[in-house]
Amino acid sequence: MKNNFGIAIHGGAGTILRKNLTPKLEQQFRTALRLSIESGKSILENGGTSLDAVQAAVVVMEDSDQFNAGKGAVFTNDETNEMDSSIMCGKTLACGCGTLLRHIKNPIIFARTVMEKSEHVLLASDGAEQFAKLHDIEIVDAKYFHTKRRWFQLQVVKESDDNKAILDHDGDNSKHGTVGAVALDKDGNLAAATSSGGMTNKKYNRIGDTPMIGAGTYADNATCAVSTTGHGEYFMRLVTAKDICDMISYKQFSIDLATKEAIKKLTAIDGSGGVIAIDNNGNIAMPMNCAGMYRASFSADDKEPSVKIFVEE
Ligand code: ASP
Repeated sequence: MKNNFGIAIHGGAGTILRKNLTPKLEQQFRTALRLSIESGKSILENGGTSLDAVQAAVVVMEDSDQFNAGKGAVFTNDETNEMDSSIMCGKTLACGCGTLLRHIKNPIIFARTVMEKSEHVLLASDGAEQFAKLHDIEIVDAKYFHTKRRWFQLQVVKESDDNKAILDHDGDNSKHGTVGAVALDKDGNLAAATSSGGMTNKKYNRIGDTPMIGAGTYADNATCAVSTTGHGEYFMRLVTAKDICDMISYKQFSIDLATKEAIKKLTAIDGSGGVIAIDNNGNIAMPMNCAGMYRASFSADDKEPSVKIFVEE
């Protein structure tokens, strides 16, 4: 066992401007991010696995109504919540994902269970919930996900001229985003996890990049672990998470260069968002092409986690 480990988390990327953030709100974000990273960090410090660390960090954000995942998931056009999640183990390349989840309290626990207890990678909708019941995963009434803020957000979008699906962070940073975590444990194993409510006012069972292995989430001990946040359709087109791993593998790029290159590719096709990534030496990168990304990181040699919101921090 080495002493090297690290973890990075995100709570969504987008139009997060200082002028729209009151000091109180900013403090609430920073506190929530700190709680999440602390939960993953303490698992890693005590010799726990990167899978347990990313799961714990994501559960904290799913249980907070501040983020667009779990409790705080956004509404669809049909006034339901449809959540996506995925988790991946860098040692075995095992992974599990869920989509169109409507009653599962913690979609990331669902994804972990798919990975460990099924012979499949991705389960959806009613079948996913049947599987969840069989495995004692907590099911909640749809009312659990009904938060006033998200409801109001849906009404505003529906009343707007174009009635389009919008990203959680589009133009109003009182709404927070998709969540994710990547970690390296003391045994040298990488893991990545992502959980999301997707887009407000989404229609036709739209599914984002979050439950797509290779697009929103990827982990491979040979290279790195990645979780993305932003406009999912673009990450799907670019297969961003796997692309970052491949740039490290085939081009011998550093994590810094590979993630910056991925953001360049995103910008080139007019996509927006950010990524968090950690390589198998514990180096962390968190670039974005938008005004901010709720994020935090901790490496073995840091005194305490660093928590950031705005791009210039
Ligand atoms: N990537 C997510 C999606 O498109 C949204 C987000 O990250 O905010 O579903």
